[in-house]
Amino acid sequence: MFEQRMGEITRSGSLRMLKPLTHSGAYIVTEDGKRMLNFSGNDYLGLAARGDIRQLEGFDMGSTSSALLTGYYDVMADLEKQIAKQFGREAALIFNSGYHMNTGIVPALVHDKTLIVADKLVHASMIDGMKLSGVPYERFRHNDLSHLEKILQRKSASYRMIIIMVESVYSMDGDVSDLKALVEIKRRYPQVMLYVDEAHAVGVRGARGLGLAEETGTVSDIDLLCGTFGKALASMGAYVVCDDVVRRLLVNRCRSLIFSTALPPSVIAYTRAVWQALPGMQNERLRLQEWSGKFRQFLVHKGISMPSESHIIPWILGENSKAVEVAEQLQKLGYYVLPIRPPTVPKGTARLRFSLTAETPVDGLMEAIDSLI
Ligand SMILES: *Cc1c(COP(=O)(O)O)cnc(C)c1O
Repeated sequence: MFEQRMGEITRSGSLRMLKPLTHSGAYIVTEDGKRMLNFSGNDYLGLAARGDIRQLEGFDMGSTSSALLTGYYDVMADLEKQIAKQFGREAALIFNSGYHMNTGIVPALVHDKTLIVADKLVHASMIDGMKLSGVPYERFRHNDLSHLEKILQRKSASYRMIIIMVESVYSMDGDVSDLKALVEIKRRYPQVMLYVDEAHAVGVRGARGLGLAEETGTVSDIDLLCGTFGKALASMGAYVVCDDVVRRLLVNRCRSLIFSTALPPSVIAYTRAVWQALPGMQNERLRLQEWSGKFRQFLVHKGISMPSESHIIPWILGENSKAVEVAEQLQKLGYYVLPIRPPTVPKGTARLRFSLTAETPVDGLMEAIDSLI
């Protein structure tokens, strides 16, 4: 039965396999010794290659229990305080991962008479959180705020709480949401809370690397301002910045926080070091921005249109087989690019996803693409 299901997956052209890799700075090395410039990770600031802040001694390797028992080390409390302070907000709460965060927060906050309204393209972990919460939900067309407003107009009278869920930089299209306009909408409905996941924007956007909310001056208006440590910070874990009362409720009700061993203090200490270094990484951010602009322009010039306004740049090819084929060609030329296929992206929009970093110049990649088209 399982083999039959695997056969179906293989025939649909969406087979996925785990490939062991070695990392060497901006490069990855495959099992058979092939070395390729990595355009498929999320190490946006190129931190994974840096020895200076990645070597930390003197912190325990395991926390040995949930944060609610004995896993809440002082280094974690300190990092939460620093994050809240940096954002100028009352509180922050750390989770084991973005997945834990997004599946945990919504179920912990909802009560009867709650409605979730989420962008059509939000991350799978947000969808899972919304489904786990058991309350009704609606989806609005991607980045279509007039559709969102229509839903709010139709539904707001029947609900005591409405949570709008969006990302700031979208992980597959690389486009961004209009946080200012979302805040305006929120202000018109007293029962609306705004939930923004900045997983792909933290470290990369904003003058101090705090994300798109910092860049757009909307930090104080976002009720649940989420980010992760696994991408640009090259660590592990996630945080939500929120009001103190929300943090207290989450500590009491959030199952993914309560029923899971807390992150190792060593990991938190490393995250703290990166967090403190973030404001000073303006050069990395500028370089990433410059290369992203150049690469997007190159694609547009080649007649390849895409929605990206960030360092995540898709080349939408349509058919699964086409995306797989072009990815293989680029890999042969030394560029590690992966095909992204349904169900991760909508059917018929299989693509290559170029995930640029401050350590991956794009000139060679552009030449390689030129040679293919
Ligand atoms: C990557 C990602 C997550 C998951 O974060 P992890 O820390 O890897 O579990 C959550 N939300 C968004 C938008 C993401 O891109």
